[in-house]
Amino acid sequence: MTNIDYLIIGGGVYGAGLAWELARQGREVLLLEANTIASGASGGLGQRGVRANGRDIRELPLMRRAYELWPDLAERIGGETGYARVGGLHLIERDRELVSAPAQVWTQERFGIPTRLVERAELHHWEPGLSEAVMAAIFCPKDGVADHTATTRSLAQAASNLGAQIREGCRVERIEVSGGRIVGVITSAGERIAVGQDVILCANGGATDLLAGLGVGGGIRLPVWQRLPQVMLTEPVAHVPMTRLVGHAHRRLSIKAGPGGRVMISGGWLGRVDPASGLPVAVASEVQGNLAEAVAVYPGLAGVGIEEVSADRWESQAIDGIPIIDRIPGVENGLFATAWAGHGWAIAPAVVELLADWVMAGDQPDLLRPFSLGRFGASI
Ligand SMILES: Cc1cc2nc3c(=O)[nH]c(=O)nc-3n(C[C@H](O)[C@H](O)[C@H](O)COP(=O)(O)OP(=O)(O)OC[C@H]3O[C@@H](n4cnc5c(N)ncnc54)[C@H](O)[C@@H]3O)c2cc1C
Repeated sequence: MTNIDYLIIGGGVYGAGLAWELARQGREVLLLEANTIASGASGGLGQRGVRANGRDIRELPLMRRAYELWPDLAERIGGETGYARVGGLHLIERDRELVSAPAQVWTQERFGIPTRLVERAELHHWEPGLSEAVMAAIFCPKDGVADHTATTRSLAQAASNLGAQIREGCRVERIEVSGGRIVGVITSAGERIAVGQDVILCANGGATDLLAGLGVGGGIRLPVWQRLPQVMLTEPVAHVPMTRLVGHAHRRLSIKAGPGGRVMISGGWLGRVDPASGLPVAVASEVQGNLAEAVAVYPGLAGVGIEEVSADRWESQAIDGIPIIDRIPGVENGLFATAWAGHGWAIAPAVVELLADWVMAGDQPDLLRPFSLGRFGASI
């Protein structure tokens, strides 16, 4: 394996997206994926929300750029993304959230995210299936949805069409460091792959293990853990009660129209690992809890059957709920990006563009500075 400029570990939207960005700029790229493209958080049931509404303030500049990139991404990569700009509502049921809503509208507007408060009458005219308890909503017309599995596969295909080498079923067990540089990686098959310029770790939760096992300063530990976000698809309903991407100010709820007259329900409810099988499984109380939140907001969903539940895609989360994107400490030729906390999808096109600039030019882009490891102190 010679003439590789960049080695990317992980074939989710970040690894595949970065491979495409680098390949289209004429770089030689090798991407190693432990399983198959989109077998992690970037694949699976339903669609992902492409949302600025309610996002951490430090992510808003990334989302503003992502808004520019999503609409013609399919055309640029010559493949499907399933992107649709349906608009996003952040529902408000309590005075305490109504009071802070103008500040959220102001902040999002200030960061270039078109946002406005929609009052009760207009909101219920738009979404007649909403509970009377919903008193207002923060509306972002540029929010939307995308087909994550299709997009990730399209990005990988586009990268491959431009000459990027993609190897599936190739798990990196260990990163080899010598003289302050990454010099190679060892795969689970025992193969050693030499590294040319840089290694970019886009392995989501897998990054944590690889960094912990790094032969630098006894390994690098991050304030990060893994979780299994739950997604559910109802059976087809007579009337899908929402046309937009819907989130909520205080309920753990994200809800959108699904395929074939179904409704997709999520919002941060979690699966767990079954101790007997060691495999991820859904938890009945989490399914019921998520459904109850959906019915509280859309009473017409009462009694609806759940056709499919999935809680088998690991997602990493940092203690402060925003990503960690930085150089790998102690080596001069490594970067990593992880801890997307269940909202890494929407910003991906903007982040991979910046990551590509970073690896090629060597300078940390300003928009990525808030996500540095340094925010946790100097000793990591
Ligand atoms: C159920 C669910 C719902 C979500 N909803 C939204 C949403 O509505 N909006 C939003 O913005 N975000 C959402 N997200 C978050 C978003 O999907 C993720 O943040 C994003 O897909 C992460 O992409 P990634 O490429 O970093 O990780 P992944 O897609 O997990 O890819 C990492 C890849 O690395 C591979 N890998 C791991 N270790 C190794 C190794 N040692 N060697 C080789 N390969 C390795 C894995 O097999 C995997 O394929 C959701 C996530 C989940 C799970």
